[in-house]
Amino acid sequence: MPELSELYQEVIVDHSTNPRHFGKLEGANRMAEGSNPLCGDQITVFLKLEDNIIKDISFIGLGCAISKASASLMTSALKTKTRVVAETLFHKFHIMITSEPGAVFDSDSLGKLAVLAGVRKFPVRVKCASLGWHTLKAALEGKNGAATTE
Ligand code: ZN
Repeated sequence: MPELSELYQEVIVDHSTNPRHFGKLEGANRMAEGSNPLCGDQITVFLKLEDNIIKDISFIGLGCAISKASASLMTSALKTKTRVVAETLFHKFHIMITSEPGAVFDSDSLGKLAVLAGVRKFPVRVKCASLGWHTLKAALEGKNGAATTE
């Protein structure tokens, strides 16, 4: 389906060149830094977590288009969601990007995040796509240290 992958490509280019929720977050009470040494991607995730709800979320970072687009899509998907929903989505996202090309995944609950399914054809890119999520997890767990894909 060439049309479909073109559409996916468009969303990824859009989110990497014009990332959403990009910048430091005023009033954040959680943050974590992550890096993917394999590609040189660096991401810092900021959270305003209240009663286990992600009231607000943002990120800053340097890196490739996939790492930025993935973090941008992640922040868009998670704002106002509960911690449990965020962890469930990470789990489903991780299954999607590490599955065999062509394997079925839970595209309904992943929504727009499903545009990143294409990275499973490029194992090197899987770490770029998951960096933002690993960093989010560290922030949720209150580990103000560094997360890494290694
Ligand atoms: Zn990368």
